[in-house]
Amino acid sequence: METKYIFITGGVLSSVGKGVTGAALGRLLKERGYQVAIQKLDPYINVDPGTMSPYQHGEVYVLDDGAETDLDLGHYERFIDTSLNQVCNVTTGQVYEEVIAKERRGDYLGGTIQVIPHITNEMKRRIGLVAKTTGAEIVIVEVGGTVGDIESLPFLESLRQMRGDVGRENSFYIHVTWVPHIGATGELKTKPTQHSVRELRSIGISPDMIIARSDYPVAEELRDKIALFCDVEKRAVIPMVTTDNLYEIPLTLEKAQMGDFVMERMNFQARQEPDWQPWKEMLAKMRQEKPGVEVALVGKYVELHDAYMSVREALQHAGIEVGVDVQIKWIHSSLLEKGSISEHLASVDGILVPGGFGERGTEGKIRATQYARENKIPYLGLCLGMQLMVVEFARQIQGDERVNSTEFNPQTPHPVIDLMPDQRDITDMGGTMRLGLYPCQLQTGTVAAQAYGTHLVHERHRHRFELNNAYRDILEEAGMRFSGLSPDKRLVEIAELADHPFMLGTQFHPEFLSRPYRAHPLFVAFVEAVKEVRSEA
Ligand code: GLN
Repeated sequence: METKYIFITGGVLSSVGKGVTGAALGRLLKERGYQVAIQKLDPYINVDPGTMSPYQHGEVYVLDDGAETDLDLGHYERFIDTSLNQVCNVTTGQVYEEVIAKERRGDYLGGTIQVIPHITNEMKRRIGLVAKTTGAEIVIVEVGGTVGDIESLPFLESLRQMRGDVGRENSFYIHVTWVPHIGATGELKTKPTQHSVRELRSIGISPDMIIARSDYPVAEELRDKIALFCDVEKRAVIPMVTTDNLYEIPLTLEKAQMGDFVMERMNFQARQEPDWQPWKEMLAKMRQEKPGVEVALVGKYVELHDAYMSVREALQHAGIEVGVDVQIKWIHSSLLEKGSISEHLASVDGILVPGGFGERGTEGKIRATQYARENKIPYLGLCLGMQLMVVEFARQIQGDERVNSTEFNPQTPHPVIDLMPDQRDITDMGGTMRLGLYPCQLQTGTVAAQAYGTHLVHERHRHRFELNNAYRDILEEAGMRFSGLSPDKRLVEIAELADHPFMLGTQFHPEFLSRPYRAHPLFVAFVEAVKEVRSEA
């Protein structure tokens, strides 16, 4: 089969769930026996989101190959359960970087380099790379931003050209729009959708399908109206009402026969009947009334929950597996820097300190780990959360508050967390951390080994600093166990405390590999410990 391309654009406003739509459609097609990959085209000039503030962009999601990507890639992987690669997130910055490098090398000698064709050709080349590098038969391509933005124009022009390149049967355009509700009259309005489709048409793209996102059910007359004004069949207008559970969306779209319509239009058949049973069982477990537990998530970007998207998802997945409803208490780390912290933490059943960068709020996080250790509250530290757990423990052993990571105090007399020699001379900040999948050997008889039930695992990393080996002996003597090590034993990947119900930190980010029906073993072990503490209380 020739590669089938499905292009998703957004209209009216951003954040209407294009990413989840693409992810869910991917699932519909995977259920029909096809290999699917999903690509996100981001119109900003940054080469990747790695150097952007989480306040701007939410979480940076990391892939196996170390690519630092948009958080939509997390939705894609969780829904289609396929490991994606770096070509699956393209930014305008990457495209220009490549074209300018070629120009400097002299690859276009004699030519004037222009948006069309040089930039658009490079964009199309990158779209083509997805099938080549992943083996996908169907490639879903989502363009970030909203139609009408100046900066997404070259991407849209590339998509327009793709239909000519790959043919009508191999290309399909979906436009996701927002249908607002006017409170005063209680009506849903289709006018913004009409306008945004007109805008898309003026660029030369006629949508084959419209996803009408709305907070309220979209009535039949409204579907008729959108179909009429936007020149698509009524079957191709798919209402998608806001839901508090993203995992319902594939079933909603299945019910609306989206998968069948897409395949009919692109002229290919299902290889198998979709089997939604496991997915439905997962949803039923999610919806089931379960005892609640509360986990404090102590971070510095807590105002924006998207900054911790994968952590939140992983906790939810583990909750389904363990049979509890994990509620997150979002706590800003700076709140814990002064005064009593028990007013914030006394009621919680578990404490989680996720990844982070920069000094702000770290002392608050350190106090949270201390509170967890002293009060025997289950603790899970992710990356920075592991480093600070080690700092706090070492402060107690040394009896010295100056113990620190050199990230926060380069002059500390006790650098328990420090740069590895290979990171010392790096001056560029972008893409130079320890990134992507690394092996980790589990030490027998530890909490980590027990949780995983195996000896060797591979986990995704994104950090610069590491546990300083000079302190390993003293930490171990005091009761810390290094339950996960790199195979050459040079790097500590997991640390845990023996004399505690559950106090464990990982140098990697297990949250990136958690899936809704395959919760991550360490999150499961943590949530189990949380449940236990709760039932004893
Ligand atoms: N800032 C720390 C480091 O670079 C931790 C990074 C993280 O939590 N992802 O090592």
